[in-house]
Amino acid sequence: MRNPRPGIGALLALSTIACSSAAPPTDTPAESDRSDIQKRVAQYTTVKLAPDLSGLTDAQRQMVPLLVEAAQAMDRAFWAQAYGDRAALMASLSDPAVRRYAEINYGPWDRLEEDAPFVDGVGAKPKGANLYPADMTTTELEEAAKTNPALKSLYTVVRRDESGALEAVPYSRAFAEDYDLAAEKLRAAAALSESAGFKRYLEARADALLSDDYLASDLAWMEMDDNTLDVVIGPIETYEDLLFGFKASSSCYVLLKDLEWSEKLKRYARLLPDLQKGLPVDNRYKQETPGSDADLGAYEALYAAGDANAAVKALAFNLPNDEKVQLEKGTRRVQLKSTMRAKFSKILVPIGDILIHESQRSHITFDAFFANGMFHEVAHGLGIKNTLNGSGTVRQALKDHASALEEGKADVLGLYMETALKERGELDDADLHDNYVSFLASIFRSIRFGSTSAHGIANLIRFNFFAEQGAFTRDTRGRYSVDFEKFPDAVTALAERLLVLQGDGDYEAVDAFVKQYGNASAELESDLARVTAADIPVDIVYEQGLDVLGL
Ligand code: ZN
Repeated sequence: MRNPRPGIGALLALSTIACSSAAPPTDTPAESDRSDIQKRVAQYTTVKLAPDLSGLTDAQRQMVPLLVEAAQAMDRAFWAQAYGDRAALMASLSDPAVRRYAEINYGPWDRLEEDAPFVDGVGAKPKGANLYPADMTTTELEEAAKTNPALKSLYTVVRRDESGALEAVPYSRAFAEDYDLAAEKLRAAAALSESAGFKRYLEARADALLSDDYLASDLAWMEMDDNTLDVVIGPIETYEDLLFGFKASSSCYVLLKDLEWSEKLKRYARLLPDLQKGLPVDNRYKQETPGSDADLGAYEALYAAGDANAAVKALAFNLPNDEKVQLEKGTRRVQLKSTMRAKFSKILVPIGDILIHESQRSHITFDAFFANGMFHEVAHGLGIKNTLNGSGTVRQALKDHASALEEGKADVLGLYMETALKERGELDDADLHDNYVSFLASIFRSIRFGSTSAHGIANLIRFNFFAEQGAFTRDTRGRYSVDFEKFPDAVTALAERLLVLQGDGDYEAVDAFVKQYGNASAELESDLARVTAADIPVDIVYEQGLDVLGL
């Protein structure tokens, strides 16, 4: 073997944080598999991250390369979290298409195929990726965490010490080389910053990467508002941890703020507290107050790395995730405008041409798609963060289902908000029929993410729930139409269901709900196969870097 698996001794040592959690690949695919891999790569259409930088000052132009270097450090740390030893994997792969697909997926498992391996000999992807020892059981972790709560921390990897006992290793130590480098680059960028708020945030974030305490930097990020550049960096989302949902993945976006859109979006954020009161659910489930100075922004992405760049690309995100910061400061929603336009024209419109009835296709519009994405993000701030029975946060209570429920809630509450705002005359130029049909088309797009993604599961649940409610119909040729009468009622019914499931924090009930609704029927599979047969890309990959940016 060219890449022998490290010995047991090495596996127990801290220095092997980055070691692979799976057996090394033994082979490249047989000749007959080649075209299969090429097809898989072709599921991703390439989009250049090359927005207009002519408005940047000289200092800002000097900051971008520093931020990109910090991003690349997060990319390396994410590889170690998701897989292990990237260099060893790549050295074992000779087929360029397989190598390319491993880069897109950050490992030898296909994120669009429920993490099925596409390299012979690697075995199944561990549910906890490389964040826990591969031989650890969930019971073992729960037991050990009673005396060592750090094992459940967002910012530790779990390893075995010399005696074989579970040990929590802080990210700052586990990924010291990359986190130290990123901190250094952030400090260098801070020294150039003309925005006092951005400077303070960059310095606080550099401290956080070295101390594993992100609170001060999250607050500093929420407090700044005079910056043109932005960087979202560090361990952030927990989607990679399918075992527990405890561990955050290293990630980075380097961003440029779209000032015009950002102004427009601020207006809606101010309506949040009022919209919380109007949620279609019993008062107990809406007793928390969403942050009053929450804000929204539209951004162009300059660079994406790590979790932010793995396979399926986010259209938008809502941060910080820390409930303490959310209650004190609200959240900032970042809409990735360039990504959204690319997904709309290259993916959503062609899907609509196949699966949406001709009579409704004109309702698939970029403005509606953009608005749905925008309100999805606003809606994350609505609802409830803590369970009603005092058993902690919703995220802790619902564990591996927490993300799917939260994404599903945000999608339907986004639609609820659009409907409510339209009734109040706040969205004069919008045609809700556009929002509904674009939403339905987008469900098909999202289901193609695969059922291991929180978004994919959320969309399957929604599809089946809406079908049950008659929110859409399917003709004999497999073309779908929104029922404009029933659609808003289905939205309300699902919103209430999800808010109650979250507030009750009853894991068993949620598990049963996900099992009941989170599956694709044979009919749906065959409809999606028509989309696949049409060779419509499933998602996008970024062509990115300083050369693409012209820097
Ligand atoms: Zn979301």
